[in-house]
Amino acid sequence: MRILVVEDNTLLGDGIQTGLRQHGFTVDWVQDGVAADLAIKGEPYAAVVLDLGLPRRSGLEVLRDMRHSCNATPVLILTARDAIEDRVAGLDAGADDYLVKPFDLNELSARLRALIRRAGGHASAVLTVGALSLDPAGRTVTFRNEPKTLSTREFDLLHALMNHAGRVMSREQIMSALYAWGEEIESNAIDVHLHHLRRKLSPDVVQTLRGVGYMLPKDIQ
Ligand code: CA
Repeated sequence: MRILVVEDNTLLGDGIQTGLRQHGFTVDWVQDGVAADLAIKGEPYAAVVLDLGLPRRSGLEVLRDMRHSCNATPVLILTARDAIEDRVAGLDAGADDYLVKPFDLNELSARLRALIRRAGGHASAVLTVGALSLDPAGRTVTFRNEPKTLSTREFDLLHALMNHAGRVMSREQIMSALYAWGEEIESNAIDVHLHHLRRKLSPDVVQTLRGVGYMLPKDIQ
């Protein structure tokens, strides 16, 4: 799951980025409101972690613009302990959740998983499609009731496909979901991960629609 972190405090931003990566998220980090606007318009994030006090453009303006342009990506705002008005203004502007600094990274990642889950219309923490089950918190997968061992990328790829079950994902959508900016990507990386998923799970788990993209069937058995 690809997350955008918007935080101008270098120490905190770096800590959040590192922490979320350790929790299995793909993370892009920007440090001002204008860069945040550009990133949000350019990439399909699963969620945004947004500081409100930012250089160039405030977090509130960024958030209001997102909601005015009908961007429903879940947003978790970060506020200072004494800034209750900020929290209220943020929630009123369309934030889905907030954390008060300083906060625990385990809590941040749990809240992000909950936001992403709700945005996908899943009430349960475990994602189930046909005979496939995936637990985003524990990063475990079972298929036909058997536990499966997947690499980080294989897991993320399966997670993205399961979130889009029954719908086609283009190569570009898959790349954007899996990789942050500046990450080195081999040109055949997606093919290799797909190959491994089919081998470890079943050849039918991912359908290739030539020239269009890939799809995980909703009724995979
Ligand atoms: Ca700040």
